Amino acid sequence: MKPSVKAKPNSIAHTSGKQLAAESHNDGTSEEEPPGPAATEEPPGSPAANRQRLFGRVPDSDWNDWRWHFRNRITTVDRLASLIPLSAEEQSQLRLVTLKYPLAITPYYLSLIDPDDPDDPIRKQAIPSILEITMGMQGQEDPLEERRYSVVPGLVHRYPDRVLMVLTDICPMLCRHCTRKREWQDGGWVRPPAEVTAMLDYIRSHDSIRDVIISGGDPLTLATPRLEAVIAAIRGIKHVEIIRIGTRFPVVLPQRIDTELCAMLGRYGPIWLNTHFNHHNEVTQEAAAACDQLLRSGVPVNNQSVLLRGVNDSVAAQLKLCQGLLRSKVRPYYLFQCDEVQGTEHLRTPVDTGLDIIEGMRGHTSGLAVPTFVIDLPGGGGKVPLQPNYVVAQKDDERLLRNFEGQFFPCRDPHPQTEPVPAGLNPAPIGEAEQVLETVA
Ligand code: SF4
Repeated sequence: MKPSVKAKPNSIAHTSGKQLAAESHNDGTSEEEPPGPAATEEPPGSPAANRQRLFGRVPDSDWNDWRWHFRNRITTVDRLASLIPLSAEEQSQLRLVTLKYPLAITPYYLSLIDPDDPDDPIRKQAIPSILEITMGMQGQEDPLEERRYSVVPGLVHRYPDRVLMVLTDICPMLCRHCTRKREWQDGGWVRPPAEVTAMLDYIRSHDSIRDVIISGGDPLTLATPRLEAVIAAIRGIKHVEIIRIGTRFPVVLPQRIDTELCAMLGRYGPIWLNTHFNHHNEVTQEAAAACDQLLRSGVPVNNQSVLLRGVNDSVAAQLKLCQGLLRSKVRPYYLFQCDEVQGTEHLRTPVDTGLDIIEGMRGHTSGLAVPTFVIDLPGGGGKVPLQPNYVVAQKDDERLLRNFEGQFFPCRDPHPQTEPVPAGLNPAPIGEAEQVLETVA
């Protein structure tokens, strides 16, 4: 195993969280109010303690309402600085970065951050870094060339039997590693009805399309009746077999997964939901309950995580994440190499890091917990799965394979059979691993 890449220490000085708590007067509403009483029953830095400390005066009725979180997203440096320790230097750097790449964090997701830890893995996904612009020349605006494959505005037809439908560019949170950062500057649009109709007409007229992926932005930012109108129209197209929804709501604002939404999704199955957990600290009780509610409505939940420097780039971090997901009945599906997107270079890892992680997981935990490591090829080439190489040698009808413990095992490879194997014909004995190696050397 090669050592995994560690995050570079943040060069920015940090104010102490305790100092900030003494100065903070922001409970997440637009009014300035003193923080609530310190939690004594929760460990410092835990989500519940952070909620109490930062949003202690917000009643449960608001905290459990996704619209409240959406309205109260943290979108300015001033507001962020009233909640999270930020030095003056860090604040001025953030002001610079957010001119190009804005900021948006839900109060719920902010409460997952340990304010006293500058290397917190949730923080790295949510709070901008000056490296987004100082390393900003590396990468491309649209490495997957989604614009090239757009057949009508908002509809990407890259693979033969499936299409990607982008209904909005609005997200509850702006993830620092987002592939569609290019869209953030013109943020805030929802696809107009005429464009949705054009997308549906295209799908209707192409009977090779059996799978429609609704994504964004985040499609669950749409009100449930509005989303239902689109889903119902897709379901009315006979050749469409499955609908998939790509959303990060279960992770960044699980309150969105409410009874109304789940009942609606349950009416139009089969619907699969792909979400985006990157770190085990995101697998909270609220997130697990949201996934459970989806599953009970007949919506299977899969996870597509992105490999991120300093967030989840070690075997231990991935094991903890994926085992936590399985406990929440969520299947780890893909682990993506972070795309070559401008403004994300500081979060990208070498490809070997991903291969080493898969090798460190495979065999050491249930295969259900091991995602497929994938690169989405720049230039719009599509997804390519990468695996550590377990085939040590190969000759004629024999392969020498390496197992997860590094031991070698020869394996007979049957020829394609055009006729039945004669009765009593036994495979020839295969020699020891060393002999096979000798033969093929
Ligand atoms: S939720 Fe997805 S689309 Fe939205 S900012 Fe995050 S990564 Fe990008």
